Amino acid sequence: MSITVGDIQTMAGTGLHIAGTWRQSANGAQFAVDDPATGETLAQVADATEQDCLDAVTAASDALDGWAHTPPRQRSEVLRRCFDLMNEHRDLIATAIVHENGKSWADAQAEAGYAAEFFRWFAEETVRIGGEYRLAPGGDKRILVEQRPVGVALLITPWNFPAAMATRKIAPALAAGCSVVLKPAPQTPLTAAIVVELIHRAGVPAGVVNLVSPSDAGPAVSAMLERVEKVSFTGSTAVGKILLRQCADRVINASMELGGNAPFIVLPDADIPAAVEGAMQAKMRNGGAACTAANRFIVHESVYAQFSELFAQRMGELTMGPGTTHSNNVGALVSDDERDKVADLVAGARSRGAGALTGGERPTGDGAFYPPTVLTDVAADDPITQNEIFGPVAPVIKYGDGTDPVQIANNTRSGLIAYVYGSTDAAMQMAHRLQAGMVAVNRGVLSDPAAPFGGVKESGLGREGGHEGIGEFLEPIYIAVDSW
Ligand code: ADP
Repeated sequence: MSITVGDIQTMAGTGLHIAGTWRQSANGAQFAVDDPATGETLAQVADATEQDCLDAVTAASDALDGWAHTPPRQRSEVLRRCFDLMNEHRDLIATAIVHENGKSWADAQAEAGYAAEFFRWFAEETVRIGGEYRLAPGGDKRILVEQRPVGVALLITPWNFPAAMATRKIAPALAAGCSVVLKPAPQTPLTAAIVVELIHRAGVPAGVVNLVSPSDAGPAVSAMLERVEKVSFTGSTAVGKILLRQCADRVINASMELGGNAPFIVLPDADIPAAVEGAMQAKMRNGGAACTAANRFIVHESVYAQFSELFAQRMGELTMGPGTTHSNNVGALVSDDERDKVADLVAGARSRGAGALTGGERPTGDGAFYPPTVLTDVAADDPITQNEIFGPVAPVIKYGDGTDPVQIANNTRSGLIAYVYGSTDAAMQMAHRLQAGMVAVNRGVLSDPAAPFGGVKESGLGREGGHEGIGEFLEPIYIAVDSW
């Protein structure tokens, strides 16, 4: 049976979930959530007031102790039920993502599966929270270290992975014993609401996971930051910096997953068909709207033509259209504004001499669509290489003997992820010198809930996933015990 927008609305409640119940906002205000592929309104969601947001923090504070003291095995089993329920509702989640975000069905399905996996991974981590007991080097005392949940956590997520960015924060927070308030992006609150409803059904106690969607994030988030112990944010570097300044006032523990500007290096000894395959994944996952998306292709001159032409051919073969038609490879961008931003970046690069081997023109017609585009003869310092494109556009830069591709790659304030294709020896040598929190060697995709995701430089602070992910929500407490 096919899933309808009505099913999404029913499951997503009002969009405001506090202390275990769905409710309307204090002043009854709502905002519209639109489908970027059609421009149609999908649902009205409760526009949380500042008071609603503070109520959510109060609910989380009230629930904190009970959850923190719930035995790890029990917390683990609840998380495991979240994993099962998300898998059971995978098509519903994917349909919601397609409608409110615009991405293709294949990408939405992949995201729904990836999102669920964070619950499985952190269910497994919950029962392995460690501690320490040892003799001090001076022999005068025992050093006892226990890990405590950091407290109430405010989780702020973007629109590009509306399910996975939420579960990547909620799962480790719950594993650690924290209670949370989730604030999703106003473009994509429905998917977040479905995830929260499933968490509720899995048996997470009332108040442990709350959801607020204020359409104007700034004042509501500022108010909540006065009362939480932790913030975990995924979004733009600009907003991340604003939040870090606010956190400084109260010395709040902050984890930041910010923007990227990923280089994709192709060395002269790379397997070119494999590099093109990897480039398709690294560029086109989520239609390019990912902080992990390859943003600059840096290709040796000896393989430049072969790589660019094959890449353009593959990009040109992709079909573009609404994700509701499951065979479409490329969906819409999240909004007309995002599409216009991408179109302007391409027009700018072309006005400075870049050529389009495929795409490169803003389509007419309905929906926030932009075609897969490969730009050649892009200068290494062209402005398009210093902007996070967040769309299906691949600028290809040529480098020659005597130029170090790592220097071009590192010439950015971002440092989230880098890709390199070449013989394993050469590629691994590059990997050690790339300024990035994550390096993909001869691979186009690396995200894995079992691995630490995060950046260096202005791409962020802290890691999500892996063994590190739960640590972002724990505080090591040292107890010195005299002669024990
Ligand atoms: P993007 O460019 O991907 O939309 P943003 O950084 O603007 O990234 O948004 C990411 C998240 O941050 C969203 O949930 C958004 O509502 C929220 N946000 C935007 N501005 C602020 C702000 N001033 N304070 C707190 N949160 C914000």
